[in-house]
Amino acid sequence: MRDPDDLPIAVLGAGIAGLVAALELQRNGYAVKVFEAAPVIAGLGGTHHDDDGFTYDMGAHFITNRLAAAIGISGDCRLVHRYGETVLIDGRYVDYPNGLLQKPRFLASALRGRVQPPDGDPSTAAWRFRRDYGQALADEVALPLLEAWSGSPADELAASVADKIPASIAHTMFLHALAKATNRAISVGYCWAQPMSASVFHVYPENGVATLCERIAEQLPGVIQVSSPVQAIVVRDDKVQAVRVHDQEIAVRAVVSTAPINILPKLVEGSDKLEKYRRFRYRPMVMVNLKLTGRDLLPDVVAWYPTGYPFFRLTEATQSMPWLAPEGKTMVLCDIGAEVGDEHWTMDDDALGDYCVDHLEDVIPGVRERYLGCRVVRTPIAYPVYLAEYEEDRLALRESTGIDGLLSVGRHGEFSHNLMEDVYWTTMDRVHRWIDAQHEIDLPAIEAAERSRRVAADAHLG
Ligand SMILES: Cc1cc2nc3c(=O)[nH]c(=O)nc-3n(C[C@H](O)[C@H](O)[C@H](O)COP(=O)(O)OP(=O)(O)OC[C@H]3O[C@@H](n4cnc5c(N)ncnc54)[C@H](O)[C@@H]3O)c2cc1C
Repeated sequence: MRDPDDLPIAVLGAGIAGLVAALELQRNGYAVKVFEAAPVIAGLGGTHHDDDGFTYDMGAHFITNRLAAAIGISGDCRLVHRYGETVLIDGRYVDYPNGLLQKPRFLASALRGRVQPPDGDPSTAAWRFRRDYGQALADEVALPLLEAWSGSPADELAASVADKIPASIAHTMFLHALAKATNRAISVGYCWAQPMSASVFHVYPENGVATLCERIAEQLPGVIQVSSPVQAIVVRDDKVQAVRVHDQEIAVRAVVSTAPINILPKLVEGSDKLEKYRRFRYRPMVMVNLKLTGRDLLPDVVAWYPTGYPFFRLTEATQSMPWLAPEGKTMVLCDIGAEVGDEHWTMDDDALGDYCVDHLEDVIPGVRERYLGCRVVRTPIAYPVYLAEYEEDRLALRESTGIDGLLSVGRHGEFSHNLMEDVYWTTMDRVHRWIDAQHEIDLPAIEAAERSRRVAADAHLG
C-alpha cells in the first residue's frame, strides 16, 4: 500500500482559486492533480473574444495591480484611468457615494439612524442598512438594489451582506478624489483581505482577465486535466481517501474543492457532515451584453437602477477599458437577477437583446439605431445569498469543512462575495493553514524517525 504522504492532492476546478491552490501546494513540494469539469480553464475568470472585435469577461471584470503583481502579470497589464458609479434616483443620476450624501433627506436620515437605531432585528441586512445609511437611503436605494441583486427580502438576509460595502464614507470619498487627481482608477471595494490604499488601482491584462489563470496554468505543466468532472469524493471515518474521475477511483492525500458549497454534499460519499450546506442558495444572473455604436453612452462606468427597470445594473466597461470594443463601438452590459427557469432565464438570446434595448430607450435615447447585436451569458451561481437562517453555518465554514483533508476554497467554495483578489488571498491563507497543520501533525513522526536514525547511526558507529 502507498504511503498516504506520497499520494497527490486533488484540486477540483481550474478557476483562479483551484489554480492558485495547486501552484502553492506544488511550490511547497506536494504532488497535485487539477480536475476541471469544463473543456477550458478559468471558470468565471474566463475571457471571450468575438469575430467582431469585442472582448467579454464574465460580467465586467476589474482587477487590481496588487493581484496582477502577485500572479506575475504586471508587465502584461494596461493602466485603467477611469472608474465611477452612479445611481438613478428620482429620474436623475447621482454620483456614488459623494452625490448621495448631498441629498438633504438622505443626509438627515443617515444622521438620525446613527443617533436612534431603527426598529427590527439587528441580525438582518434590512436593519443594518437602515442603521448604517439611514431609513431614507436604505429604503429608496440600498434595499431595493440588495433585493434585486439577491432575489431575497432584505429582512431575510444576514447583516453581514453589508460587510462588503466600504465602511468609511470619508475614506471612500478621499480615494475617489485622489483617483481624479492621479488619473488612476483607484480600487474601492474590490478587496477586503488587504487594505484599500492610493497605491492599489485597477489594471487590465492585454488579452483579457483570463491571462491571470493562463499564467498560473503555465506553471503547472501536465497537472491540469480538463473535461474531467470529479464525480465523487470518497471519505472514510471523516477523512478524505480518494476521488472518482471518469469512473476511476484515484487515491489522494487531500482534496481542495472550488465547487459550489451546495453541490459538495452531493459529491461526498461516506460522510453526511456537509448535508447542512445543501440549503445554501446562489442567485442566478442573466447577463446581456449589448453591442452598440458610439462611446460613453452611460453617465458613468457603472449605473445602478434601484427600481423601474428589469436590470438593476448597467456597465459600460469600455469607459474604463476602451480597447474592449473596436473604435467607435461600445458594449453595455445589462445585469438581470433571475431564477433558473423564469421568464428572463428562458427567453432566447435575440429576444433578450431586444427586450433590453426596449427598456434602455430612456437611458440611451436612440439606442435602437445603435444596436448591433448581443451576447448573453446565464449563470446559476452568480452570487452567494447570505440568508440569515444559515449564517451560523456559513461562518463556521471559514474554519473547516469538518472533514479531514477536505478544503473548500474560492468564491463558491467559501460561499462568499469574493472578487478575484480576495479569492487569491483567502485561498493562499487556507492552503498555508493546511500546510502548517500537516507539519504539526507530522512533527512527532518526523522527530521519531530522526531519533531512530540517530540510534541506528550511533549503533553503527559503536
Ligand atoms: C457577474 C460577475 C462579475 C464579477 N466581476 C468581478 C470583477 O469585476 N472583479 C473581480 O475581481 N471579480 C469579479 N467577479 C468574481 C470573480 O469572477 C470570481 O471571484 C472568481 O472568478 C471565482 O473564481 P473561483 O476559482 O473561486 O471559481 P470559478 O471561476 O467558478 O471556478 C470553479 C471551477 O470549478 C469547476 N468545477 C465545478 N465543479 C466541478 C467538479 N465537480 N469537478 C471539476 N471541476 C468542477 C468549474 O467548472 C469552474 O471552472 C465577478 C463575478 C460575477 C459572477
